[in-house]
Amino acid sequence: MKDRTRQAQETERVLQGTAVSRGIGIAPVHVVARGFSAPEVYPITDVEAEQARFENALAVTRGQLSELQKRIEAISGEHESRIFEAHLMMIEDKAIVDRVNEAIAERKQNAEFALYAVAQNFLEAMRRVPDPYLRERTTDIEDVCQRVLRNFSHEDQRDGHPSDNHILVAYDLSPSDTASMDRRHLHGFATEMGSVNSHTAILARSLGIPAIVGLQGAVLEVRALTPAIIDGYTGKLILNPTPETFARYERVRTEKERVRHKLEAQRNDEAVTTDGRRITLSANIELVKELPFVKHSGARGVGLYRTEFLLLEGEQIPGEDFQARTYTQLARALAPDPVIIRTLDSGGDKLPVEPLLEPEPNPFLGWRGIRVSLDRPAMFKEQLRAILRASAHGKVAVMFPLVSGIMEVRRAKDLVKEAMDELAAKNIPFDENIDIGVMIELPSAAIIADLLAPEVDFFSIGTNDLIQYTVAADRVNYRVADLYRPTHPAVIRLIKRTIDAAIQNGIWTGVCGEMAGDVRLTPLLLGLGVEELSVGPHQVPRVRHAIRALSHAECAAMADEALRTPLSKDTLELTTELATKYYRDLID
Ligand code: PEP
Ligand code: MG
Repeated sequence: MKDRTRQAQETERVLQGTAVSRGIGIAPVHVVARGFSAPEVYPITDVEAEQARFENALAVTRGQLSELQKRIEAISGEHESRIFEAHLMMIEDKAIVDRVNEAIAERKQNAEFALYAVAQNFLEAMRRVPDPYLRERTTDIEDVCQRVLRNFSHEDQRDGHPSDNHILVAYDLSPSDTASMDRRHLHGFATEMGSVNSHTAILARSLGIPAIVGLQGAVLEVRALTPAIIDGYTGKLILNPTPETFARYERVRTEKERVRHKLEAQRNDEAVTTDGRRITLSANIELVKELPFVKHSGARGVGLYRTEFLLLEGEQIPGEDFQARTYTQLARALAPDPVIIRTLDSGGDKLPVEPLLEPEPNPFLGWRGIRVSLDRPAMFKEQLRAILRASAHGKVAVMFPLVSGIMEVRRAKDLVKEAMDELAAKNIPFDENIDIGVMIELPSAAIIADLLAPEVDFFSIGTNDLIQYTVAADRVNYRVADLYRPTHPAVIRLIKRTIDAAIQNGIWTGVCGEMAGDVRLTPLLLGLGVEELSVGPHQVPRVRHAIRALSHAECAAMADEALRTPLSKDTLELTTELATKYYRDLID
């Protein structure tokens, strides 16, 4: 790096966020924000030459805008051409131009990135004002900045760019941004927005990418290409680490790797407690490309395949044949272990299935999950037929999300029956006895678990949603993150109630929410009587180790006590105590 001397002189700085995906990453930072795409960033040495490049880009832009203004005025009159006047004023605004020049001198980074960082600052400020007119003006600023960025000449000599090893710092990342990241160069990411249970965080854990969320102001504060360490255990982003900090983290990383290899070596060991209770330990996946991780982890199949990426990522929902091929690929690769395919769970915090004419006032209480599928039976049956077709090639089960009552389950089952009849009429093979399960993720479903159980073959508790709906705290809203407590007495009572109803009806209960992957909570879940745990592939080895270290009888006694404990923090302490007693090295 050209300005290494200067960076070496900078002092170490620690930004604290919330850790959401374990691991340590060591690499320079690459910054992206939202709005318009970030230019590449690289260090410069000649500040004046860079400021001249900026002036040149502004001059070219000025010429283009005046030209455009004249043309539009001739065609549509003066009124329409005013927009360009506003754009021209923006690039002539001395305050903005001065700030960019200062940023070039101060950051010693290319002019494009300095402009981008300054514009982002303005944009963020404008997005936060209550006045809708001002908020709308952000698109004008974006337009002008894009234009100036396009007008830079490119005789630069760049030194670092995102295809090199890096830690990504971003305002926010969508699950699809995360899914498409190039894992080979990405050593971790830190975002201003997000929460432990957002789908981006879940995906980071699944893909084994160290990640931090809630680093407010980071996009504007962090200078691109700064050497950094991301600590996905404690939620720290350390900028300009000292040689001592580097050395310390190298040691931590080596030690964590050693533990990981040790745990992975136990992949063929059964997930059984010291007193002989067998637990089915399976994996959650979002993408077919996670299959090798599932195999590597030694998971017994897939306990939750979220089909949202497959169905909603492209321009349109893929047809039955394409879906059937994907599900069959999974079923074949995992056989004889099962794959539980969850039907489309759109809406709320997930992608919408179709644009809504009006935004929903409360998307989390709106058109989500099974409700959407039941309202779109043709689309739903395509997915059901595709799942059924795959069931002829391995062990496949189907599961419905966000069930609130019995009628939804009955109607969904009727559609499964119709899908079966349609396949049978064409002599297409499928498993007539395919297992059908429901996710228990609404308090209403948990409360009537005794009525739901006779309708289905299994329950899978989606604690991510169950917690948010029980305590009315949005799973992705950092303001209420403190209220979002997995060990809240109401939550564990609902889990217990669900399990009891399942046992009475001879069906099994699993947990596929993020609680299942938190080894501090494994004693509590086992003690409550859970029979299956489905977790991100990278969490499987840790959870297996936890299960094998615990005695079910001891967990059950602790869970009894937890059910009588009024405070969530005390229950967390009870379960963490057992976890620490038997696998201290896994509790970070
Ligand atoms: C859950 O809600 O716990 C769950 C597993 O589903 P998702 O996270 O996809 O909503
Ligand atoms: Mg859910």
